[in-house]
Amino acid sequence: MCVQSDNRAVTALFRVFGGSGGICVAEACRHTEFRGMHAGELLLLAVWFPLAVYVAMVEWLSRHVALAAGLLLAIPACFITLSFLPYVLGARTPANQWRMWLGVGLAWALFHWNAGGVAGFFAWGWIALCGLNLVAFILLVFGRSLARVGTPGVIWRFLVLLEFHLFAIAAGWWWGWSWAVAGGAVIAAVFCWVVLRPGNQWLGQVTCRTGDRSIRLTIDDGPDPHDTPVLLDLLDRHRIKAVFFMIGWKVAAHPELVREVLRRGHEIGNHTMNHPQASFWCAGPWRTRREILECQEVIDKVAGVKPRWFRAPVGHRNLFTHPIAGMLGLKVMAWNRRGFDTLGSDPDKALSRILPKLGPGDIVLVHEGTPVATEVLSGVLEGIDRLRLGLDDIIP
Ligand SMILES: [Zn+2]
Repeated sequence: MCVQSDNRAVTALFRVFGGSGGICVAEACRHTEFRGMHAGELLLLAVWFPLAVYVAMVEWLSRHVALAAGLLLAIPACFITLSFLPYVLGARTPANQWRMWLGVGLAWALFHWNAGGVAGFFAWGWIALCGLNLVAFILLVFGRSLARVGTPGVIWRFLVLLEFHLFAIAAGWWWGWSWAVAGGAVIAAVFCWVVLRPGNQWLGQVTCRTGDRSIRLTIDDGPDPHDTPVLLDLLDRHRIKAVFFMIGWKVAAHPELVREVLRRGHEIGNHTMNHPQASFWCAGPWRTRREILECQEVIDKVAGVKPRWFRAPVGHRNLFTHPIAGMLGLKVMAWNRRGFDTLGSDPDKALSRILPKLGPGDIVLVHEGTPVATEVLSGVLEGIDRLRLGLDDIIP
């Protein structure tokens, strides 16, 4: 059964919470426009709707005719209603039928919410279903709004944050200020969860895997006069291309290294102007824009290329990163394999965090400018060689 639907609200809800895992809200909404209904939604349409209509019919007929008649007549009545009513009312597409049944069901449920028994159960089911649709609709609008870039996107995110705080204040006003404090704590916890986790997709799309069988090597925090030439030779020896996420001020200090990286066929990504790793997660829109834009401009000036990838310092994006990066034509990239090579002086320890699970589709993060940069990259390259991937696969 293939049902095309533009009932994107509920489908989006299923996609976000229905096990697709890690898909961002905006992406979910985009996908659902093309992929039709989710299996859970189909199940609701196929089971709940006929059952609920049947119970409504039995309830109505047994009250106005007789219980036996109700039980008998409800099946054909249900069939006729389900089959023809949508067409009589002009709801010919599955989505319009869905909306129609929701409306009819809600109208019926509002008269039966305190009926008790089976009818009451189904009435509450309808009300819950409509509530679910409302939540999904809000989510859909929210998801769409997250896809906005530039100033409208920044203003919208600011308003959403303000709105959440107003909800917390309203809760405090009505139920006591401890509720406002609890609300504020929840907002802060969710905010930290979202911005401090590099792969979190709630604020916008973050690329954490290559999407195919290739492995993408990403080298952060350069260029470095000591490491970059050595790493380039290592990469050449293994015939592997990487993405160098460079810091703007280092680009300005070592322009010849930037051009050499490009000359050897690697790609350059934007890693902010100053790498403010302790404070980028809570930076405002102006500072975020300045950090990303200045880095973009200095790379363009020095090397004549505009990066297409952005990576936040230590992966900590802030509320405004996505609309600003999007405005500058940048996509946000994180990683799914890293060895915390900036924390220690033991390359084996870093490699033990990367290599055992390394496989096709991975995006690996290593750093330059650390005491272990050469050993770590060398180990990762040997690991990739051992995986016997076709060399063409490795090119980003
Ligand atoms: Zn970095």
